Amino acid sequence: MYVRGVGPRVAEMLAAKGILTAEDLLYHLPFRYEDRQNPRSLDELTPGEMASVIAEVRGAALLRTRKMPIFELTLGQGRLAMKCMWFNGTYLNGKFHAGQTVAVFGKVEPSRSTSNFKMIQPQFEVLPDSSDDAETRLLEVGRITPVYESLGGARLASRWQRKVIFGLLESMRGAVPECLPRAMLERLALPDREKALREVHFPPEGTPMAQLQCSATAAHRRLIFEELFFLELGLELKRRRMRERAGISFATTATVREAIREVLPFHPTAAQKRTLGEIVADMRQPNPMRRLLQGDVGSGKTIVALQAMLVAMENGYQAALMAPTEILATQHYLAARKLLERSSRKYRIVLLTGSLDEERKRSNRGLINRGEAQLVIGTHALIEEKVEFDRLGLVVVDEQHRFGVLQRFRLMKKPNQAEPDVLVMTATPIPRTLALSLYGDLDVSVLDELPPGRTPIVTRRVPDERCEEVWDFIRKQVKLGRQAYIVYPVIEGTKDDQPELDFSHDDPEAGLAPPPPAARKSVRKGKTADLFPKAAQEANPQAKLGLKSAVDMYEKLRTGPMAGLRIGLLHGRLDADEKEVIMRRFQRGEIDVLVATTVIEVGVDVPNASVMVVEHAERFGLAQLHQLRGRVGRGAAKSYCILITGKRVSEVGEQRLNAMVRTQDGFELAELDLAIRGPGEFFGTRQAGLPDFRVANLVRDRQLLELAKLEAVRFVHSADKVGGSETTEAERARVWARLKDAWQRRYGLVEAG
Ligand code: ADP
Ligand code: MG
Repeated sequence: MYVRGVGPRVAEMLAAKGILTAEDLLYHLPFRYEDRQNPRSLDELTPGEMASVIAEVRGAALLRTRKMPIFELTLGQGRLAMKCMWFNGTYLNGKFHAGQTVAVFGKVEPSRSTSNFKMIQPQFEVLPDSSDDAETRLLEVGRITPVYESLGGARLASRWQRKVIFGLLESMRGAVPECLPRAMLERLALPDREKALREVHFPPEGTPMAQLQCSATAAHRRLIFEELFFLELGLELKRRRMRERAGISFATTATVREAIREVLPFHPTAAQKRTLGEIVADMRQPNPMRRLLQGDVGSGKTIVALQAMLVAMENGYQAALMAPTEILATQHYLAARKLLERSSRKYRIVLLTGSLDEERKRSNRGLINRGEAQLVIGTHALIEEKVEFDRLGLVVVDEQHRFGVLQRFRLMKKPNQAEPDVLVMTATPIPRTLALSLYGDLDVSVLDELPPGRTPIVTRRVPDERCEEVWDFIRKQVKLGRQAYIVYPVIEGTKDDQPELDFSHDDPEAGLAPPPPAARKSVRKGKTADLFPKAAQEANPQAKLGLKSAVDMYEKLRTGPMAGLRIGLLHGRLDADEKEVIMRRFQRGEIDVLVATTVIEVGVDVPNASVMVVEHAERFGLAQLHQLRGRVGRGAAKSYCILITGKRVSEVGEQRLNAMVRTQDGFELAELDLAIRGPGEFFGTRQAGLPDFRVANLVRDRQLLELAKLEAVRFVHSADKVGGSETTEAERARVWARLKDAWQRRYGLVEAG
């Protein structure tokens, strides 16, 4: 489609931003609005607030200070005045002249000079005057004006977008196709698509500004709902398709129950009983199970999974458990062996990880393939090594948020065999409503109770200078017979370019991202840092201050403060055997203090360990800290989590550390994490297979997500009904077409066929 204002060159720039069609452009929504109908008067402003101000240019000057050129603009409204300043503002010279009207947006700050207020580096636009054409004036002044993120430099900034989008909407007047059924819109009191698009870009007079700024107008809600509806509809269909596939009906006879009773080392909690009941009920169904078992760290997921695996094994099927790291796989393997030794049945358990030697891998593959191994525990290698199971009945995936490969389990079974059941376990305490909606193709069980006898973990924050006290404390705990972990952000050296930090929880804000070019120069000179408080902090060369690393600190502690204790070192660069040996020794209590990286973050279970020390705690994400803390407090002994922090902690870092000290509730922490980081990063976008949303925001729009889910289920049901449906044939056809298009283009989640 031809769009006025978009030639080949511009089209190329837009494509670089992912805008390929006219529709994409229409769904590029303003990120804020300016009320140019009733502009704020300067005397209504309060220092500290973000505000947009329309005023007249009184004067402009380029001040050449020793450090850098500063462009200063004086704006006036009657007797009141405000100064705006741009550092390195040479490029602004000559852009303004007295009498022009400009709109600026920025933080209002008190001013000590002649003006009443000032703004540092505000966004600005020179407003059109009578010399500009009528359309420009119409779009820019005397109305609520949309402000867009630029789609390509100054050229494709707000002004350009207003014009092009306005033109586009005009040319499509009355012809924007609706993609949702009329009855649904009426029920939800949402406007049609064309009206929504028009009003979201050009809000009608009188639309409340507050609603606009938080995307809560009916127009916004309609577009957000639309996006979430098609997500949920796709998930609902996926779930349906799965329900229709042939699976295995496992039997739960008295023999099966006896097999479980034999090995259970303790009384399960009520929550464990309930969730196992839900899982087993699924397993008895003739359709494949797709269930998520969600439970905070330490809630006892492993034993629930093991019981489910026993059901499969007792039915003559093989069960596989996939863990995200070799350490965890090894630990599960050792624990399962120990547990199943208690059984009168003879189960064969094998381990399969990438770094086993070829010989052992080959022989294990043989055991699996011939059906001689009933229980297989491993890592990704289970998929990558092309292991073919003889009779695979159940796959358990531990800590799924590192995987996102559900479909690939098909590789593990023989063709023509029934689909195995799949149980996914996660400790990422996804807020429940989100879990239900997001894992739309999984059913969810929640372990919401900790095993008895746990004492709360005492969490403290300690500054770096006081680490001697921490070492002292560890020595005392070891004397009492306890064990401790000390965790570092890097393996070796002082830079965090090492794999251990490279995962979804990584916090870009704490990273060593290079400062923006302008700031970099000034910081290097080291003089103007006060003008760039934020940039200066970003540029703060942590590397120079030196990050402590596991390898270096292991040496230091071993020969210094921890001399005489049995101390071990564990990180991702050790080979599989070494890791296994260290883990085993720590588990057996032959190592007192384990110096490690985040390889021990998930799942490691050594109940006698009672102290978790995290150095450079400010650099870890909230989910990570919570996971690390979850390594202790697993036995009856009183446990401690000590967060040692460096000198400089960012504001967000402060929030995280405070939250850790304040609460141990994984769900509360998850809510906070979600709020701090936004859903994309929270879920590790790509890995979780989650789409990027164009207009929706999972935190802000949770209620609409719920609504979308209900409507998606309802739609699928009503589409099945012959006659009596509230939707017409044509409407349904449009919904399906749109779904296909949306999922293929936006999410890439549609499976072929
Ligand atoms: P997670 O859910 O984090 O994977 P685990 O399965 O590793 O938790 O269990 C944590 C610890 O609690 C383990 O030491 C396990 O043996 C113990 N545990 C689990 N369930 C119970 C129970 N019902 N009673 C006592 N201890 C339990
Ligand atoms: Mg676990």
